[in-house]
Amino acid sequence: MEAGTGGPEALTALREEVREFIEQQRVNGRFRPEVDSWLAGWDEEFSRALGAKGWLGMSIPREHGGHGRSYLERYVVTEELLCAGAPVAAHWIADRQIAPALVRFGTREQREEFLPAIARGESYWAIGMSEPDAGSDLASVRTRATRVEGGWQITGTKVWTSGAHRAHAFFVLARSAPRSDGGRHDGLSQFLVRLDAPGVTVSPIHSLDGSHHFNEVSLDAVFVPDGDVLGEIGNGWHQVTSELKFERSGPERFLSVFPALQRLTEVEEVVVHAPDDGLGHHFSRLVALHHLSFDVACRLQDGAPAEVLATMVKEMGTRTEGDLADDLADWASRSPHQDTELARLLADGLTRRAGFTLRGGTNEILRGLVAKGMDKQQAGGAT
Ligand SMILES: Cc1cc2nc3c(=O)[nH]c(=O)nc-3n(C[C@H](O)[C@H](O)[C@H](O)COP(=O)(O)OP(=O)(O)OC[C@H]3O[C@@H](n4cnc5c(N)ncnc54)[C@H](O)[C@@H]3O)c2cc1C
Repeated sequence: MEAGTGGPEALTALREEVREFIEQQRVNGRFRPEVDSWLAGWDEEFSRALGAKGWLGMSIPREHGGHGRSYLERYVVTEELLCAGAPVAAHWIADRQIAPALVRFGTREQREEFLPAIARGESYWAIGMSEPDAGSDLASVRTRATRVEGGWQITGTKVWTSGAHRAHAFFVLARSAPRSDGGRHDGLSQFLVRLDAPGVTVSPIHSLDGSHHFNEVSLDAVFVPDGDVLGEIGNGWHQVTSELKFERSGPERFLSVFPALQRLTEVEEVVVHAPDDGLGHHFSRLVALHHLSFDVACRLQDGAPAEVLATMVKEMGTRTEGDLADDLADWASRSPHQDTELARLLADGLTRRAGFTLRGGTNEILRGLVAKGMDKQQAGGAT
């Protein structure tokens, strides 16, 4: 990891620059603020514009085609984009967790092929972990990888695969060897699977509101060359779990509904129906989560342990944004407002809030992880 370049003043200047850019884009009609824009707002041109500004692949080292900037700088950029409801879904997964995994576990060829393209906002990825019978209990994945000449043949079904109908490739977790006596986490491996490979079928799963971001992806004897194995065969569990601190800790875990809150504060006849203590309650939770999430970014920057705090951000953050969606809709329903933009954002907030606490690992599971993690820290004398 390269030294960070973002002291407090530099971060403030960067925040201003990002805000200015976003405002310009919004005023020019380049985007309409969206709730949950990191999952719903797919706009490849916008991603490329961010790439051209140097705001993607920020924490990828320069020698791998990134910008060698700090996790704190990346944090500032992503936070501003989410607050504005900007369309960031196309590059989100690639920038957030595929890039750090490739930096850590990828081969030179994989890094050269993908990292510069991710930093330009031109390479889009999905995550193939969940299966029809393996969600919380991920170690029970049934997708099989069988050794064949020159590579692996993969067969199985992945589900809830966000963005797979538009992405170029996805990381697939598969069982490459039977469980050993050593444990159920053995024998799992990760593969880079190109979504246009023969044998891959992507079928849509439509959400309640008719939108399409989920998919079922079936893999029928898909050939994956040795060059597309990620990391080490058999090390998949360790690799997947080491990605989770990137997946769970960011501001997208509490800001999904922020554009609706922002809009509500601009609509006079609704604000008067929002109780002061209600607004204050939500703002204080959001500010606390900002500090917690920023602290994780500091730890990522320093290479310090971040798993437990990242899990806490996800658990507390997604409850907060879900509560916020409910309360905003409640306050708005008490006023005779005619603001169609607010109504749209609130409706989207309500339909999507059910997924907040599920995606990235359910909150029930995360609470167990936090409890065990705290227990381990205490046993180890860590603070
Ligand atoms: C919006 C959204 C986007 C997603 N995107 C992706 C994606 O891109 N790629 C991907 O791979 N997956 C994705 N997922 C899937 C997500 O990771 C899973 O839904 C999640 O891990 C839960 O798995 P499951 O749905 O199989 O539920 P289950 O594991 O069957 O759980 C059902 C319920 O039982 C509870 N439960 C299960 N086990 C326990 C236990 N031991 N103790 C207490 N409670 C328990 C759970 O908390 C949950 O409430 C997405 C999900 C959503 C909602």
